[in-house]
Parts: sequence; C-alpha cells; structure tokens
Amino acid sequence: MPEPRKVVIIGAGNVGSTFAYTLMQSGLAREIVLVDKDAERAQGEAMDLNHGLFFAPPVDIRAGDYDDCADAALIVITAGAKQKPDESRLDLVQRNVKICKDIVGEITSRTSDAVIIIVTNPVDVLTYVTQEVSGWPRARILGSGTVLDSARFRYLLSAHCRVDPRNVHAYVIGEHGDSEVACWSMTHIAGVPMTDYCERTCQHVCSDEDRAQIIEQVRDSAYHVIESKGATYYGVSMALERITSAILRDESSVLTVSLRAGGQYGLRDVCLSLPAIINRNGVDRIIDAALTDAEQEALQRSANVLRDIITQLNL
Ligand code: NAD
Repeated sequence: MPEPRKVVIIGAGNVGSTFAYTLMQSGLAREIVLVDKDAERAQGEAMDLNHGLFFAPPVDIRAGDYDDCADAALIVITAGAKQKPDESRLDLVQRNVKICKDIVGEITSRTSDAVIIIVTNPVDVLTYVTQEVSGWPRARILGSGTVLDSARFRYLLSAHCRVDPRNVHAYVIGEHGDSEVACWSMTHIAGVPMTDYCERTCQHVCSDEDRAQIIEQVRDSAYHVIESKGATYYGVSMALERITSAILRDESSVLTVSLRAGGQYGLRDVCLSLPAIINRNGVDRIIDAALTDAEQEALQRSANVLRDIITQLNL
C-alpha cells in the first residue's frame, strides 16, 4: 500500500528542487524523496532544504533511489534535458523519450499503485509514452500540461482588467507548446464573460489586438524567461503544488492537465491538456465544453501536431 503522503521527485534540477521547496512549505507531503542520476546533486538539494525545516511544517526530506517508489503515493518526473534558447519543447523529443522510458521502467518494476505526473518536456508526448510503456490505468498518469499556461493566461488577464487573478477563470488547452489554444469562450471574471466584463466594468472594448497580444505573451512566456535566466521553475513548481494538492487531498479540482482524450472534443489517442477533474484517482473526469468553431479547429490542429510526433516514435 502506498504511503498516502509520500512524494518521490525524479530529477533534482531547477524544476525538481524548486518543486521540493514549494512542496515542503505547503505541508502537503509527509515525506519528500529526491532521485537524480547525479546523486550528489540530489543530496545537496536535500541537505539545503532540510536546513529550512525549522521554518516549515514537519516533513522528511532526503535523497533516495528508485526503491523509494515502491510505497510512494505520487511520483513526479522532472528529469531530462531542458530547452536551450531558441529551442522549442518539441525539439527535446529524441533526448527525453529515451530518458523517460528508462525512468518508467525503473518505476514500474517497483510499484503499480502510484499516480505519476510528467513534467519533463515535451510533456504531452512523454505523458503518452509513459502511458504506453507502463500499461498502467491512464487516469493515473498525467502531465503538468497547460496548468502553468492557464495560470499565465489568468495573470495577464488580471493585469489587463486590474482584478485579482484568483477571480479570473480562463483555460489554455491543447499542447503545452507553440500550438496551444487560449479559450476565450470559456473566459470569465466573477461569472461575467470576458467581453461583457471589459465593456461594462472597465468601460473599454477588449480589441482583437489586445487579445492577440495576450495570447502571444502566454505562448511565448517560457521563451522570454529562458532567454533571460536560462530556465523556468517558480511558476511550474507552484502549478505542480496545485496538482499535488488536488491528488493528495482528493479535491476534485478542475485543472488543465495533459491526459489521454477519450472522444471528448472529437479527440482520441493523443495526450494533450483539457479541463479535467483531478483527485486521488488522478484524472477522474474530463470536462466536455462547447468551444467556438475556431477554437475547436485550433484544438484539432494542436492534436495533429502531437499525433504526428507520436506516430514517428514507433512505440
Ligand atoms: P535541469 O537540467 O536543471 O535538471 C534536470 C535534471 O535531470 C538534472 O539534475 C539531471 O541530472 C537529471 N537527469 C537527467 N537524466 C536523468 C535520468 N536518466 N535519471 C535521473 N535524473 C536525470 O532541468 P530543469 O530546468 O529542471 O528542467 C527539467 C525538465 O522540465 C525539462 O525537460 C524542462 O523542459 C521541463 N520543464 C517543464 C515545464 C512544464 O510546464 N511542463 C516547465 C519548466 C520546465
């Protein structure tokens, strides 16, 4: 039986260690184990985190190995190559598919009970690979997907409308990458559709140009951050903490994780992000919403981009 609050993080680089730091402060986990092929790095990170324990809720943090997966409730994979400036997430495919398959082999030889979250890019392709290689129920293997992109979208809309991001409801769906789709038709502030909100509350019309600018900023955020500081890790770590909370606390929260579509939105046999209910089962249900024709076409294009790559992998 898995320990209900044990989290194993594979990959103790920027994302893995920052997620451990975020998780440690959240009080969600009772045990956090860092596993990395660079064992010294994992040990150093665990040591550094332990020095903050006096200021945090009780939690055991240590470096470990794959045997720690045997009784983990949640395993989060952040190991692998990251984008260099000017590289897209899809450019990482060859390097990270191999790493992902190796890691999944290590995990599945020790447990079949955990929920796995894939973070390594290209996250949608690797979520699909993990589902295929493991043979586990698909609900228990999900990708961090566009949870981060949806948060970026909400942040930018909140700045545009000068309102708390927590009152903005907005979703980015599809690929976590260049073909992602910002769903304006599902966007609202305090229950008021975005267009009405701007007209009636802000007394300005949100122009097509405003929208295009916001979408571009959401899509290109990672490129800008990587160009400035080499990697993104704070936003994604908070997104991972949010997903972890939904799973470990059995919250049934709506999050746009990467999952295997089962006919919703006319999509099958591809992993991409759709709004879904997340709880201790992993992906419990997918929310099927009515998109505009343009959004539906864009989502289909995004699925095609991912399907083309998956087909070439010959799994
Ligand atoms: P990083 O280079 O800082 O860390 C990667 C770590 O993986 C290193 O410590 C390395 O030793 C380890 N590693 C590599 N191969 C391994 C293996 N076979 N077994 C165990 N450990 C292994 O990179 P990072 O900035 O932490 O990014 C990690 C991944 O997360 C990248 O693919 C990046 O693109 C992705 N990422 C995803 C999102 C998202 O929203 N999904 C956001 C940011 C980054």
